[in-house]
Parts: sequence; C-alpha cells; structure tokens
Amino acid sequence: PGDIAHPVAVGLEVAGDGPALPLTPGLPDALFEHDGQITKQAVRAMTLAALAPRAGERLWDIGTGSGSVAIEWLLAHPDNQAVAFERDAERAARARRNADNLGVDWLEVVEGSALDALSDQTLSDQPPEVVFIGGGLSQALLEALWRRLPAGVRIVANAVTLESEALLAHWQQQAGGELLRLELASAAPIGTRRGWKAGYPIVQWRVAR
Ligand code: SAH
Repeated sequence: PGDIAHPVAVGLEVAGDGPALPLTPGLPDALFEHDGQITKQAVRAMTLAALAPRAGERLWDIGTGSGSVAIEWLLAHPDNQAVAFERDAERAARARRNADNLGVDWLEVVEGSALDALSDQTLSDQPPEVVFIGGGLSQALLEALWRRLPAGVRIVANAVTLESEALLAHWQQQAGGELLRLELASAAPIGTRRGWKAGYPIVQWRVAR
C-alpha cells in the first residue's frame, strides 16, 4: 500500500507504471492495514453508495477502525473532507497511516470516545453533511447527534450486534429512513469441495436528520 497513490488525489491524470487504485468504492481489504475490525469490501461498497459523497462534502466517520470508509470518502473527490473518530489509540494511529499511504493525508483523526468528541465546540463549528456510524452506536450517541447536527444531515449506521440492530429498528420507527439487511457469503473450501461461508448480517439504516 505504501507505493499506491490515488491519481486524482495526487493531481495526476495518469498513474504511470505503478499500481493504480480503481475509481469505484469497495477497494480490496488488503490495501488497508487492519486488525480484522474492518468493514469488508462488499459491505464497504454498499456503505459508500449509501453515504453518496458529493464533491466538497464533509464526513464524520464514527468508529473509524482502519479508516477505510473515511478514506474511500476522500478518494471520491479531492475536495472532500473527513473527520475520523476512534477511541482505540492503536487503531487511530493505523487509520492515520492508511490515509497517508493511500494518498489522502488530509484525513483528520480524532482519538477518543465519539461522545466526548461531539461536545467539542470546534467540531460543531464545522458540521458535516454526512455522518457514518460504524462503531460506538448507542442511544446516547444518536441523541447527541440529533441534538447537535443541523436538519438535513445524512446519516448512515451499520449494526452487527442484536443490541445495535434493536436500537436502529426503534429509531427507524421514530425518525423514518430506510433499513436494509445485508447478508453476504463467499465460497470457501470445505475439505476438497466448497461451501458458502456467511458473514455476520449487517443492518444498515439511512436517514436524514
Ligand atoms: N468501518 C471500520 C470498522 C469499524 S469497527 C473499518 O472499515 O475499518 C468499529 C470501531 O469502532 C472499532 O475500531 C472500535 O474501537 C470503534 N469504537 C467503538 N465504540 C466507539 C466510541 N464510543 N467512540 C469511538 N470509537 C468507537
């Protein structure tokens, strides 16, 4: 990944002889340094489609993990901005490295609990157009976002646990928006044959504040 730079992000029209990144979201997981906590390629592609970046928009990526979602947001257009929230120090450092290695070094990484960060005044001075919640989903977080964000902000939340799925089901009833369940499986060896190895189902909620 250290050798790969996005041709658009570095202002080049051609990528030269080196490896070039595809222009569509859903980059291979292997391009990101990660510890297993990463939104996998296919789910990430569908997540970016739901986030629907437009030129110049700002994303908050809450629970950024490896940073993959925020990084693909920035790769969508060189004028895009993103703030990545991550409470785990090691992962925050990893997201920083991934952004630098993939040519989007203007990613802003905020280390600490997302709830604490939301009360930071400097953040509310520059509200995002879009918020993604990939970790840290809770009643308190959703309430804080609803209090602080201007009306119209697009919100996408992915839930993998029963508890966060229940939270999204409840909030969709109150606030509207669309719920989508993503269930994917990939072929994997079973002895000398193959079978479908299922990933955890992901429940995705998209709504406008
Ligand atoms: N979308 C990420 C994966 C997210 S995994 C990727 O593609 O890499 C969820 C992440 O949320 C974990 O890294 C976890 O440390 C972080 N997290 C959980 N609760 C949090 C909170 N309250 N504030 C900030 N980060 C949180």
